[in-house]
Amino acid sequence: MFKERKYHALRVDPEKCFGCIHCMKVCPTETIRVKDGLAVVNDLRCVDCGNCMRACPVDAFYIIQDDISRIQEFKYRVALFPSVNIGQFPEKISDDQIYGAIMKLGFTHVYEVEQPIQWLIETIYEHKQQNPDKQPLISSFCPAIVRLIQIKYPSLVDNIMNVKAPHDLAASFILEKLKQEGARPEEIGLFYIAPCSAKIAAVKDPVGEQESIISGVINMNELYNRVMTVIAGHPREEFEGYRDYLSREGILWPLTRGEARLFKRRSMAVDGIHNVVRILEKLETEELPDIDFLELRSCDQGCAGGILLSGNRFLTVERLERRARRYPRAAESPVRPELREKVKTSLISGEIAPSRVFQLDPDRAKALEKLAKVERIICQLPAIDCAACGAPNCHALAEDMVTGHAKMTDCIHLQHRYLKEGKMTIVRAFDNLEKIWGNGRFEADCKKRGARNEGF
Ligand code: SF4
Ligand code: SF4
Repeated sequence: MFKERKYHALRVDPEKCFGCIHCMKVCPTETIRVKDGLAVVNDLRCVDCGNCMRACPVDAFYIIQDDISRIQEFKYRVALFPSVNIGQFPEKISDDQIYGAIMKLGFTHVYEVEQPIQWLIETIYEHKQQNPDKQPLISSFCPAIVRLIQIKYPSLVDNIMNVKAPHDLAASFILEKLKQEGARPEEIGLFYIAPCSAKIAAVKDPVGEQESIISGVINMNELYNRVMTVIAGHPREEFEGYRDYLSREGILWPLTRGEARLFKRRSMAVDGIHNVVRILEKLETEELPDIDFLELRSCDQGCAGGILLSGNRFLTVERLERRARRYPRAAESPVRPELREKVKTSLISGEIAPSRVFQLDPDRAKALEKLAKVERIICQLPAIDCAACGAPNCHALAEDMVTGHAKMTDCIHLQHRYLKEGKMTIVRAFDNLEKIWGNGRFEADCKKRGARNEGF
């Protein structure tokens, strides 16, 4: 059964937002509307991709995350981070300095999540073999894409592999390792340093699971800033034993083609959520060739383009590619066989279910009726997608009307027709506009936000 989202990592600050619609225009699920001069997100349709946050000219979106002081609740404080965290730092800062600075922030263990990646690779190959009908097999790595498929392409949900991501692998591995070394489970705090809002939401509210074994999530951007403040005065030291199972494949995993390169026959890697939407549409209409594996990532350049990374994504990729060349192949890296079966079993996720949030009505006959109504309404609308109604385009406005969230007079162009035909008063038309764009929005005011093109 589909589990409705309880947690979203992104929020809009009403003090900063001024309803400029930049976010609404880039949202891949058309989930944002402008009401009373502010961006309003429909949580049911939001996939936490962060496109809105990237597009906002005044940084009105903020991230909900755990406070780093929470680590003090635990005796063993483990920082779990993806290798892109290393890639974002300036070149003159070594891997060991970054590890040292993270420890200085209060962690007792620092661990890169893409290890031992060989176990994840084996699990994916086994899953592919056991599910020959999943053609193509779709990666479950990017949580924004999994959510996108669940809500917008429910017929493709069965193609998603039920295999968890590297942060689950590392969390499970380090938990077992510490328990073996004598730590009690309640003493162990696992904190994931997340590169994007979708990964934060995935840990807080995982798909196919009741809850994650990870204790908290910290914004990678915040960690970066803290590391940069402590790194200067920190003596260089060596970190033995923390990267024993790190491999070339592991370091490259979060980047575009990180997983697709494992499939020797036919695989395809697509990054950028709007590119992914186009590919999923082709897959739905059976226009894709016979592909074995589809790696789909919401961000350009994979996690190197995550919204919580500080570095330039292309420089991050370049640093990681050079770093990867210094590490052995996954099949050659030494792993502890005694934990293998236990950790591998934990890598299979529960059911990933389709959602019906895009259905116009739960009753199929009524949904078809409503669809026909949407089409009739669109004939009345100007079809110029101006967004002056507070919806991203005319089609979205028509759907809002059919589901009872908007009315014909919300379209400012139709308003003009109604005024001309004497079906509406000018006062009512103006009130309607203020409901969407806020009181006083149409007063002359050189100080109002946006008037000076600030932030654009
Ligand atoms: S200021 Fe503009 S882009 Fe930013 S949240 Fe508000 S409507 Fe969206
Ligand atoms: S996070 Fe993505 S899906 Fe959610 S409102 Fe922003 S752009 Fe839309």
